[in-house]
Amino acid sequence: MNIEKLQHILSDQPAYRLKQAKKAIFIDLIEDWDEATVFPKDLREKLNKECPLDINATLTISKDANTKKILIKLDDNNEIETVLMKNRDRNTVCVSTQVGCALKCAFCATGKMGLTRDLKASEIVAQVLLISRHLKKKKEHVTNVVFMGMGEPLLNYDATLDAVRILNDKDGLHIGARKISISTSGIIPGIKKLANEDIQVNLAISLHAPNDRLRQELMPIARKYSLEELFQTIDEYIKKTNRKVMFEYVLIREVNDLPIQAKKLAKLMRKPLYMVNLIPYNETDMFEPSSQAAITRFKNFLLREGIEVTERKRFGRDISAACGQLSTKK
Ligand code: SAH
Ligand code: SF4
Repeated sequence: MNIEKLQHILSDQPAYRLKQAKKAIFIDLIEDWDEATVFPKDLREKLNKECPLDINATLTISKDANTKKILIKLDDNNEIETVLMKNRDRNTVCVSTQVGCALKCAFCATGKMGLTRDLKASEIVAQVLLISRHLKKKKEHVTNVVFMGMGEPLLNYDATLDAVRILNDKDGLHIGARKISISTSGIIPGIKKLANEDIQVNLAISLHAPNDRLRQELMPIARKYSLEELFQTIDEYIKKTNRKVMFEYVLIREVNDLPIQAKKLAKLMRKPLYMVNLIPYNETDMFEPSSQAAITRFKNFLLREGIEVTERKRFGRDISAACGQLSTKK
């Protein structure tokens, strides 16, 4: 499924055909063009041949029933993972933007794979579409999309933004920009570009350390972009967009969860529209997660300092579908 190809195939048709096609794909969630009965038969056949709607995927369902991990096989046989998280009335899809990731953060399973290739916009959108089809059977729908699966979205900038636009399209899934979040390890040129887009999604920054030395140890990309430069870019982003920025901080036992680090972090975060999201470390093979006592201590310290803090719920650990556990290398 590829919107550009679809546009091309329909280019000799009246304009309303594209609108009908989008409705069929994203609202009626058809899986075969034969279901699009508003189209003449020969057009349906052509579309089935040139723009097929099937997505090849395997579902792994977590024991807690709130997380589903979906393995998708791409046309070139590469595999990516998508996660569906249910939380009360929310259905959040966590999408991948690359096959693997080049950035090799020490705590992340995807980083261990290295980068195979970027995903196309259609491959990013297909992940959401697949979950939408799955949810339709239960009369539910996708409410939120987070770009927090495999890969660094801002190193696949154009496809990521194209995907955002398709997800946001009012003739399609119509997911509000405020329901879409992009998480980045701090790619400065990408953040600058994002600040100037006409569509404003939520921005999350993977911080994970309150100083350059530790951050560089955990995240090699921090050697390229210093914290000083990063905060300067984020402040410009906030000035332009007037939007909140979420700083993600994965708590790793005795690595970044000490009181002195909480103090340092509080100092950095004491700015309007900054907020912290504490993430329990999901075990890969490198480190150990912080104890619940250390997490609470860290959180309470930030709260006492007047910082806005949220704690991320754990999802899908039993099926390795949690943050940083996505890897299709066996
Ligand atoms: N590449 C982007 C987006 C994908 S990673 C980024 O790094 O922001 C999504 C989030 O999962 C990031 O905040 C990342 O730091 C976090 N993460 C990675 N490994 C993790 C682990 N083992 N436990 C918990 N969170 C992890
Ligand atoms: Fe890549 Fe994000 Fe994993 Fe780092 S945390 S290796 S940037 S996917």
